[in-house]
Amino acid sequence: MTARTSSGAPEFRAEGCTVSTEPYGRHAHLVTVDGPRGEQVLLKAPGWRHTVITDLVRKEHLTWGEGEVMIRIPEGRAAWLMAFTPPPEVSVFDYAPTPQLRTPQTEVSCARFPVVDVHAHLTLDEEQPGQRLGLMRELNIAAVVTSSFADRGETTAGSAELARAAPGRLLPAATVDWSSARRRGGAERMAESLASDVREHGAVLIGELHDKGFGVDDPGTGPVPEDPLFLDDPRLDPFWEAAAALRLPAIVHCGDELAAYEPWDSRNEALVRLFRKPWARRRPGSLGHGEVHERRDRLLKRFPGLTVIAAHIDGSGERLDTVEERLRLHPGLFVELGACHHVLARQPRHAARFLDRWRDRVVFGGDRVQDRATYREQFRVLESDDDAFHYRGRQDPWPAYGLALPDDVLRAVYSGTAARLVPAAAEALIRHEEERTPCR
Ligand SMILES: [Zn+2]
Repeated sequence: MTARTSSGAPEFRAEGCTVSTEPYGRHAHLVTVDGPRGEQVLLKAPGWRHTVITDLVRKEHLTWGEGEVMIRIPEGRAAWLMAFTPPPEVSVFDYAPTPQLRTPQTEVSCARFPVVDVHAHLTLDEEQPGQRLGLMRELNIAAVVTSSFADRGETTAGSAELARAAPGRLLPAATVDWSSARRRGGAERMAESLASDVREHGAVLIGELHDKGFGVDDPGTGPVPEDPLFLDDPRLDPFWEAAAALRLPAIVHCGDELAAYEPWDSRNEALVRLFRKPWARRRPGSLGHGEVHERRDRLLKRFPGLTVIAAHIDGSGERLDTVEERLRLHPGLFVELGACHHVLARQPRHAARFLDRWRDRVVFGGDRVQDRATYREQFRVLESDDDAFHYRGRQDPWPAYGLALPDDVLRAVYSGTAARLVPAAAEALIRHEEERTPCR
């Protein structure tokens, strides 16, 4: 605890001196130190940290160290100082500064080129699929791939039925019951049902599977810590063989943002965000960020014919150099941008260069049931050259900047790369181009 006087000032002391303080406005105190004239003395306020101090006689600012500062008492009088203290009770959780900066703002109402969104979970949508189709037309989205959640008991048939409301535009992903692999012959049965999901339900991808450090989710339970199934678990081999043979890409959500693995303290860049999303903070006993990715990379090495779409920029958008390294090492690896536009927008030039180099390995995605405003925000980040804007519901202190991607990079990221991975998306693009009235 920091000692304070009754006026709320830090309790200043200097050996062999008389020290007095008086308040000066709300966040400053005048400090008088009388002692040996013409000599230096050490002024202390133990535990007091953020003080800025000005010597009013010598007219200079002094650097307040860890609870102390060296001052000089003038020849003819007592030292006279101004000590500033920070506004005391503004919590970082309340701090929400209103920027005074005013710069051009680009309104992006729809995507400049047709979009294929490979990452959605439309079984969570409370509206009718017809409404989703209307929104897709409005935003220039040609196709959306929807994944169900096996851990909520959902099936490929459910996604397929939903997709039938907009044939060729809503595309189902296969939902896999990963827990089968723990039973004898289970992975072979998973492989068979994957083939029938393609044949009978038109599955275009293997829907999103998650490994956040405890192995893949089981239906109804989430991961099973007593017997985790990690991505490279040999019990899954027959399944991955089938996926590679069917040329069916898998969307894999592997690990989360790096800050989720760091101590939740004053050095954590996502302090506020992780406070609001406590479930994203790493629970004890999970694999670390690096280890989850190493297991995924071992899988890619063992099955070179397998295509993995790493959701959310592989949970590594803060380290695009690392993502680049993984892309270089594993030709079957692709990355998806869902819910990560804010990560790109804090490093616009680096991110634009990354997307330029890797446009043929990057696909566009949203996540969950993405609304109009969030799609527009993503388009604005990729297309505009706007400076220092804030996205909705922002929980980061830094602003966003547009990447101003050139047209050929935008075309590849929006749909070109996805169309190569998903033939049904390529067909959807052709139909969309024929039907569409441009929004701007
Ligand atoms: Zn998802």
